[in-house]
Amino acid sequence: MSQRSVERKRLRFVSDRMLGSLTRYLRFMGYDTLSANSLAEGNRREDTILLEIASRDGRVLLTRDRELAGRGREGGAVLVESEDVLEQVRQLSGMGLIEPELRMTRCSLCNALLHRATRREVHEADYAPRQFPDLEFFWCPRCRRLYWMGSHGRSLQKRIEAGVQGCDEPGSAPERRPP
Ligand SMILES: [Zn+2]
Repeated sequence: MSQRSVERKRLRFVSDRMLGSLTRYLRFMGYDTLSANSLAEGNRREDTILLEIASRDGRVLLTRDRELAGRGREGGAVLVESEDVLEQVRQLSGMGLIEPELRMTRCSLCNALLHRATRREVHEADYAPRQFPDLEFFWCPRCRRLYWMGSHGRSLQKRIEAGVQGCDEPGSAPERRPP
């Protein structure tokens, strides 16, 4: 897929249970990503359900399971090759499926779209930094969590970009603490 087609249409994803970290990273990058981890556990038909979700919603199925990837091949399922999340990001980027760039548009926990936090929402979150009036704050209406781009977010951004350029470091998350 060309760069131009990436710009034209941002893909949506559904990921298997092995890809919890990648799911969060994709959401940090603004990609609408459903996770098998939000399904009830123990369903023997889970692979089939994931294929159905991918087909029904037009999502790209991401999986570490070779057999499942084979079953979903016609629908564009991707076999994620590495266990390392930055390698995984690099693979998807190399395939032209994503642009590895941190965006603060989507909740990493629940996939809901964030909105600019109101002054009241910032004020009610006692974990928000008070001494940086220039920070932009974002709010997840579903989890009622506040996000902002602090030093951890910037270092995650660097890791994502460096990971794509070939440097390997462990991942972390932008600053976010539950109320
Ligand atoms: Zn949320």
